[in-house]
Formats: sequence, structure tokens, C-alpha cells
Amino acid sequence: MPELPEVETVCRGLAKSITGKTLARLELRRKGLRFPFPKGIAQQTEGRRITAIRRRAKYILIDLAGGDTLIAHLGMSGRMVIADAGETYTPEKHDHVIFHLKDGGRVVFNDARRFGVLDIAPTAEIEQTRHFAHLGPEPLDAAFSAAYLQSALAPRKTAIKIAIMDQELVVGVGNIYAAEALFESRIDPARPAQSLRGAEVRKLWAAIRKVLEKAIAAGGSSIRDYVQSDGELGYFQHQWADYDKEGQKCRGCTCPLQKTGGIKRITQGGRSTFYCPSRQK
Ligand SMILES: [Zn+2]
Repeated sequence: MPELPEVETVCRGLAKSITGKTLARLELRRKGLRFPFPKGIAQQTEGRRITAIRRRAKYILIDLAGGDTLIAHLGMSGRMVIADAGETYTPEKHDHVIFHLKDGGRVVFNDARRFGVLDIAPTAEIEQTRHFAHLGPEPLDAAFSAAYLQSALAPRKTAIKIAIMDQELVVGVGNIYAAEALFESRIDPARPAQSLRGAEVRKLWAAIRKVLEKAIAAGGSSIRDYVQSDGELGYFQHQWADYDKEGQKCRGCTCPLQKTGGIKRITQGGRSTFYCPSRQK
């Protein structure tokens, strides 16, 4: 499933290619994806200029002149493929929406499993839509401060890994990013959220931002005009310290493997957590 850094990478790729261009026609090749497409969305968007591409949580926001925003989500398997003007594009199975640009270019929304979303709302009201109304702050925005994280964790008895993956607390910290941030900050993922001391919260806060920024930087450098997201691990799996390395040494590990048994796997909230019990306390 595409995670926040992958979606950010897709947004940056789209922004570079289609900002300022005009949408000639929105071609809907089925009635909907996860939800039916809004009635009249094709007529409503025809001939409108794309003023900006932004990201909120794992949604792609396409701002249109005149004050509306297209809201797209890649779901489990979605990707956006850009074909510039003059480039031939051979339609594929699961191409469900095609954004035809006035200059002859196209953006193709392909989604094999059809958990994706395409919606539209007035730009000023998107935070109140069902997609965003329940969401916490962006992890890389100023609103997500160490002080905010401290106060958000204080009432929570749940495991710290579960807490930081809660989208109402902060958006976009998926399973692997949560585990990686806890490894970086040397915190045991099973600790009750409210048991973290101030210094630990500050370390964790910095680690969450660092891990996401690093993943975005890695994605941003590997993708040009063809943008896509695939697979549970996304683009960035090679970087992870502990992921899927049960019984092995962690990155930079000096712990005696025979004594510790190496990286452990536990299940939290139905997902695997990999961590080093001698490094993470
Ligand atoms: Zn270790």
C-alpha cells in the first residue's frame, strides 16, 4: 500500500508535470472505485486550469482554478502514470480514470484492486469532508511539535507503536515507518504511550520526522516523469534497519546475538513489529 512518502513523491512528480496546465476532459472508464464518482465531476472539471498539486495525509489534492479541489487516493494498488504530449500511451487494464490535458498530455489513474478514491470538493471546505474531518496534523508540519506529541501521548495507555500509527494523533506514520522511528529513538514498541519521558518523546518526535524525510528524499531522487506506487513496502524497503530480519543483528548492533536472539518479531494491532530488544528499552 502506498504510504505517505510514496504519495508525497507522486504529488511532486505530478506537480512538476501538470501544474498550470488545463484539464480538457476527465474520462471516467467506470462508475467509481471504492465509492461512486461524484455526479457531474467530468462536466465540473472540464476546461479548468490546475493551479497546484498538494498532499494531505495519503491523498493527492489537485487544486483547480475557480476554487475546487480534486481529491484522489491510491488505495491499495493505485498509481498515476504521466504521458506527456506527443508520447504514445497504450491503455492498460485497470486504467479507470484518464485526465486529458489541453496540451495533449494525459495522467492515467490505474488501480487494479479499486480501493482508490476520486472526489471533488470546494477547496475551502476539504478539511471538513469525510476524508479529512477525523485526521490529526501532518507529521512534517509545525503543528506536529514535540510538545503536541507529548500532550497527545499523555492520556494513552496503548502501546507506543499503536499510538503513533493512529491517524487521529498524526497522519502518515505507517507500520514500517513507526517501527523505524522507534528503532531510531531506541524505544521498545510495546511500552505504554503514556510511560514515555519528555526526553524520549522528543527523540521519537525527531525520529518520526527524520524517517519520513529520508524516505521522501529517496523517492524524490529515483522518480522522474513516470510515477507509480506498488507493493506493501513501497520504494524504500532497502533502507529499513529491522524489517523482516527476525533473528539477525540490527543496524549498528553490538549486542551478543547468542544471548539476545537478535531482532524479534511481535504482532501489534494485527501487524508485525520488528525490533531489537537489547537496543530498544
Ligand atoms: Zn541490536
